[in-house]
Amino acid sequence: MIEPDGPVLIVGAGQAGTMTAEALRSGGFTGPITLLGDEPHGPYHRPPLSKAWLAGEVGEAQLMLRAPEMLAKKNITLRTGVSVRSIDRAAQQLHLDGGDALSYAGLVLATGAAPRRLPLAGGDAPNVLPLRSKDDASAIATLLARCADLALPLVVFGGGFIGLEVAATARKKGLAVTVLEAAPRLLGRVLSPELSAWYADLHRGHGVQLVLEARIERIDTADGLACAVVMADGTRHACGGVVLGVGVSANDTLAAAAGLDCERGIVVDACGRTADPRIVAAGDCTARRLDDGSLLRLESVQNATEQAKSAAAALLGQPRPFTATPWFWSDQYDKKLQMAGLSAGADSWAVRGDMAAGTSFSVYHYRGGRLIAVDSVNAAKDHLQARKLLDAGVSPTPAQVADLGCDLNALLAA
Ligand code: FAD
Ligand code: NAP
Repeated sequence: MIEPDGPVLIVGAGQAGTMTAEALRSGGFTGPITLLGDEPHGPYHRPPLSKAWLAGEVGEAQLMLRAPEMLAKKNITLRTGVSVRSIDRAAQQLHLDGGDALSYAGLVLATGAAPRRLPLAGGDAPNVLPLRSKDDASAIATLLARCADLALPLVVFGGGFIGLEVAATARKKGLAVTVLEAAPRLLGRVLSPELSAWYADLHRGHGVQLVLEARIERIDTADGLACAVVMADGTRHACGGVVLGVGVSANDTLAAAAGLDCERGIVVDACGRTADPRIVAAGDCTARRLDDGSLLRLESVQNATEQAKSAAAALLGQPRPFTATPWFWSDQYDKKLQMAGLSAGADSWAVRGDMAAGTSFSVYHYRGGRLIAVDSVNAAKDHLQARKLLDAGVSPTPAQVADLGCDLNALLAA
């Protein structure tokens, strides 16, 4: 627990940083709070960057997570364009890029994650673009417009969330799109094989050229710009540009340099605590130590928001472990995928609704007869109910799941 008059410094003005600042205030902390972000923008929502914003369906105002005036009203100081260079734990100070030092009683690390790049010839061409920030998304919007103007295809590296959401948006705009995925199936980190196959059919049905087990050799350039992607087997995919969606790495170098335990992320417990009682961490920069000793890395809005509440509570000396069922969503074409729980390790599954028709259905995943995850497509009610079932540890049988006449809420009530 930190001194009631602080001050608290928060590194990273994204989802987790902003939510921690607000949770400190709503938790009764009255000392100074400063939110330090290295981007030129105040806090904004990232999810629309690959979806509605890129499609031109929502504007700038809807991207805003918190207006600076809202933060000011809560007496939270926002400093943008400020990069934190190092942490001096003994002196309880942060050193900024410009040379200034700031003192803290409590420190929140909410530095997020950075997109991976591939060390390929041609990979540094200016039309080979990652997607993490608002500025990245603006550059990709310009790239899509260029591809449309010149009638050139877009090539996407990676069949994860970023790759597939951008592919769907680009198809909506009428572009020819090729997705190159290294693994044998799409969304392999988060979806079961059955749903991966369903998503492959969805994208192929919308005209995406999908290459699984893709081995990319190089990117050819003309006049400095990427013009084709060349595969190990010699196949060439001509393109007007490339979007990279090949995963992220946690931004944990500040923490590691300060001697904090880092393993694919800043290691925290369920309360967001590091080994230093004055330092907590939240969001994509973390790896959470579970009771069995393994580490869990989640990269999602829910994780950032819930860890933020836990991290704030820990600084206030009121531990609040985050143990709720993880959930995620993704919008591709007219399909809203909502995932509750983690399906990795499932050994059987049951379907509610008509998966073949694909209009609205959910897949229930079991391990050893216990429900561990539910993936819903255009079935919001199933998703909300699934979160309750999973939180309560209630497992409907596969027969009950398959029977649309069976009210699964009744199991919860029982
Ligand atoms: P971030 O939001 O990345 O914020 C971290 C901030 O810290 C950044 O602004 C970074 O620049 C800053 N920073 C880093 N180092 C320093 C430093 N040294 N000094 C100062 N500032 C620093 N999740 C979902 O659940 N559903 C979705 O549909 C979804 N869609 C997404 C779409 C896109 C295009 C992207 C990129 C992500 C999406 N996500 C989605 C993931 C979700 O946005 C992240 O999990 C969430 O933003 C993590 O929040 P965070 O605060 O940990 O990190
Ligand atoms: P991701 O989900 O990790 O997917 C990356 C994909 O790229 C993986 O399938 C990976 O395959 C593949 N890949 C890796 N190297 C490759 C190569 N050399 N050639 C071709 N494919 C390659 O990451 P992401 O899609 O880039 O997303 C980045 C972050 O944004 C994540 O944190 C993600 O959760 C977040 N995000 C979330 C949402 C959402 O929740 N809806 C939406 C967008 C973004 P392997 O698994 O085989 O490595």
